[in-house]
Amino acid sequence: MDVFAVPGLPEVRPGDDLAALIDDRTDLRDDDVVAVASTVVSKAEDRRADLEDFPASPRARELAARLAEIADEDKDPRFAQAVLEESTEIIVEAPFLLTATKFGHVGVNAGIDRSNVGDGDADLLLLPERPHESAARIRRNLAADPAVIVTDTSGRPFRHGQRGVALGWAGIPASRDWRGERDRDGHELEVTVEAVVDELAAAANLVTGEGDDGLPVAVVRDWAFGDHDGSEHLYREVEGDFVRQALRGWEFARD
Ligand code: GDP
Ligand code: MN
Ligand code: MN
Repeated sequence: MDVFAVPGLPEVRPGDDLAALIDDRTDLRDDDVVAVASTVVSKAEDRRADLEDFPASPRARELAARLAEIADEDKDPRFAQAVLEESTEIIVEAPFLLTATKFGHVGVNAGIDRSNVGDGDADLLLLPERPHESAARIRRNLAADPAVIVTDTSGRPFRHGQRGVALGWAGIPASRDWRGERDRDGHELEVTVEAVVDELAAAANLVTGEGDDGLPVAVVRDWAFGDHDGSEHLYREVEGDFVRQALRGWEFARD
């Protein structure tokens, strides 16, 4: 497969038609996968915000004070308020805010970015409200019929470093289900469900970069889902998520 970034995209403005901006700069094919950084989806959907939009509640002040003490630097309680308002659950309160967003993604600070926010003087860029719908809308508006994935750069537990993940997708199942297929020894696979949208997002992130590259859209070409069952599940349900349950009862302590 090939992965290449769409060149020459402008600074994205509220109301911009991302599909048209992409179509103007590249000839997509029906079997492509188009990965769009959530940053530009948020800009197009006008998800920029100001800290002053989030007057801090007592809870936000309490969270920020704890984080400030741990980090030994100022923490704006209005930022904590923004995180609270974007989240359905605070899973970890310290030494950072790990939360579940309203659409199911678990990430630090509810994925709110303070970099590449765009011009104007907005302080924050919130994640798209409904990334599946964003992906479906971009897909509908493209001339060709590729799959579309809305991505974000996200950290992960157990390993240093960040990588691209899928927040929303359309025209492709979330996962490739290998269960029932056989390995080289003839053993039936019992658990492997491969989260292809995350893998594609990670590949796309390799060419989009994190800084001032100006490359928010990547195209994956000549990759095939193949003859497998698909699954739509990516975000774990709380009931079956034992790590999340364990973290709920965990308390940060500095030794
Ligand atoms: P995130 O991973 O979705 O949070 O987005 P990043 O901030 O990591 O940006 C991903 C890529 O998009 C980088 O190459 C940025 O320079 C680029 N980028 C961000 N905003 C814009 C924009 O409005 N226009 C263009 N052309 N590139 C942008
Ligand atoms: Mn981001
Ligand atoms: Mn990024």
